Amino acid sequence: VFKLPLPSDAELSLLTEDQRRSALALAEAILPDSRDPEGPRAADERTLASLERVLEHLSPWAVRAFGVAAQALDRAARVQTGRRFSDLDVRRQQALLDSWQANPVLRTPLTVISAALKFVHFDTGDVYTSLGGKLNVVQEVEQPRYLEQVMPATEWDDGDDLECEVVVVGTGAGGAVVGKELAERGHAVLFVEEGDFHQRDSFTGSSVQAHVDFYRGSLSVGNAPILIFAGRLVGGSTAINTGSCFRTPDPVLHRWCEELGTDAFAPEAMAPHFAKVERILEVGPANRAASGPAARLMMEGCDALGWRHEPMLRNAPGCMGEGFCDFGCRTDARKSTNLSYLPPALERGSMLLTGFRVDGVLREGGRAVGVEGVDKNGRRLKVRADAVVFGGGALFTPLFLAKQGLGGGSGQLGRNLTLHPSTGLMARFDERIDGHRHIPQGHYSPHFIDSDGILLNVAQADQNYTPMMTPMVGRRLMDYVDQLSHMAGFGMLVSDEEASGSVREGAKGFPFVRYDMTRGDVDRIHRGFIHLAEMAFAAGAHRVYPALQSWPVVDRDNFRRFRAARLGAGDTMCTSYHPLGTVKMGSDPKTSVVDLDHQMHDLPGLFIVDSSTVQGPLGVNPQVTIMAMATRAAGRIVDRVF
Ligand SMILES: Cc1cc2nc3c(=O)[nH]c(=O)nc-3n(C[C@H](O)[C@H](O)[C@H](O)COP(=O)(O)OP(=O)(O)OC[C@H]3O[C@@H](n4cnc5c(N)ncnc54)[C@H](O)[C@@H]3O)c2cc1C
Repeated sequence: VFKLPLPSDAELSLLTEDQRRSALALAEAILPDSRDPEGPRAADERTLASLERVLEHLSPWAVRAFGVAAQALDRAARVQTGRRFSDLDVRRQQALLDSWQANPVLRTPLTVISAALKFVHFDTGDVYTSLGGKLNVVQEVEQPRYLEQVMPATEWDDGDDLECEVVVVGTGAGGAVVGKELAERGHAVLFVEEGDFHQRDSFTGSSVQAHVDFYRGSLSVGNAPILIFAGRLVGGSTAINTGSCFRTPDPVLHRWCEELGTDAFAPEAMAPHFAKVERILEVGPANRAASGPAARLMMEGCDALGWRHEPMLRNAPGCMGEGFCDFGCRTDARKSTNLSYLPPALERGSMLLTGFRVDGVLREGGRAVGVEGVDKNGRRLKVRADAVVFGGGALFTPLFLAKQGLGGGSGQLGRNLTLHPSTGLMARFDERIDGHRHIPQGHYSPHFIDSDGILLNVAQADQNYTPMMTPMVGRRLMDYVDQLSHMAGFGMLVSDEEASGSVREGAKGFPFVRYDMTRGDVDRIHRGFIHLAEMAFAAGAHRVYPALQSWPVVDRDNFRRFRAARLGAGDTMCTSYHPLGTVKMGSDPKTSVVDLDHQMHDLPGLFIVDSSTVQGPLGVNPQVTIMAMATRAAGRIVDRVF
């Protein structure tokens, strides 16, 4: 069981004593005791100590940002009451929290602080288990032969130069697929991956551990900050994803063909690639029983309203609903690329070096001839290859290319970013739901995808995560938390109206993402919430708790007002799991970065195959699209290089 080590007394915290005092008072007020004697306890010194450790791990700068936000709220308390927040009685503190939540300026620091505190507190062993959460321990894992081909780069002791025919950087949906396809054609493939190799005993279910060890991402800057997530482990984001599988919708394929002036991506041309990916991933409908009551309620709600709905297609045969796919699958049911694509490649003699961050591309005679990078001890390694495939993902690939001085000619590198903003609500039913013991996304409704770009689905997070999906704090938050076992989670993914986001390198090498929601995006999200609430009410929900700053609770009494309301971008609380499109494809080097075969216009031999070359929005989850494009790309690479 993963436990966050608390800092020892001797260790100095980065928060000043004054910031600490403010932060502790806020923590105790934002996360008070449950009214249920068996329910979660209040936050205390331990919560703060764990939080400091996590924030420090992410970046010491994050601890400072937290401290400054805490002090800003303390200052607001002094202005409003003449006293420090920590000196107020509980009733007055709760009243202040309510007033800040309604204040468009102060709710920003309040959201920063409360999200961070909820993240750590509800994941703490005793608090998590008091909510019915179960941390998992896997005693023994299988040791298949292909593991002999996997090695931390630090253990590579056969010289600092490696040679192969194809070096593949990144083992996610793009890299792993293209590597396996080329290995099967008989090419000597070396995979290199910045993250570590994990087996199912690493996946305890702790959300904090998952975010520290397997995740990275960014927070977009714009009119509605969006947390963007990606994986950093063998398998890439596929090893922490929810397993939902969609083919690219036909209208999107037609749009690409038109924009790119080709038939290469027409539905008939892509169909064999989709079929192959689905066969390898063992895609099939979600098990009905493992999908739980929330899926049944979605069916009932949709039936009552005459909306189409279907079981989700997933790459998780035999999944019985452990309930925390996004923190790693502890049963190996979900066929992420580390379980589906990498093993056959490794069995054919490919190698995988982990903990190897590629930071340069080797060039000779105007061609890419390999990559170089560092292992975890800082040793530099070079890999020489006839073809270089880069699959670092839509946030990181453009940063890498920019640093190499590549792809800049068209002005398109890092642009055209779409995010598929995602959000949702919790609906209170009479019956027990226990969503955390079922498949997170077992059922969905395509009813509004074609007509309005809104995908509705069951969206059940684990107990340690769900409290972050509401802006509520304090007593109201704990009253909500006490009802979690009777809440069903429903979510939406919306198609971005414009592909106008961008990413470039920010401080300390982190991706700096700019993204503004359009008026159309905000209205679409509003319509999505209306649909979800209608569906939940039709299935018998008493009230819903949307992830919306200005409407934390909607019931039948205020539903009409909610429908008529005009939401602002700042009201929304969205996350993104699908950054797409930052390395534009096209035949003209003046307007695109890679050609239709994924080869860089300005460096032959370097192929970009990942979510960055998928032009969004798709309107559906993208892994099958990325993998089908990678399957096609493998054939094109053979034609162009070998
Ligand atoms: C929490 C979550 C849930 C999701 N749920 C779904 C879902 O249900 N269905 C779906 O279709 N999609 C889902 N997705 C999205 C899907 O998983 C991604 O779109 C897809 O995996 C992206 O593929 P990729 O190859 O572009 O990048 P990734 O899969 O992210 O792989 C990139 C890899 O490259 C490595 N890397 C990056 N830079 C370097 C470097 N310089 N050197 C070495 N290695 C490097 C990274 O560590 C990473 O392992 C989800 C994503 C997340 C994060």
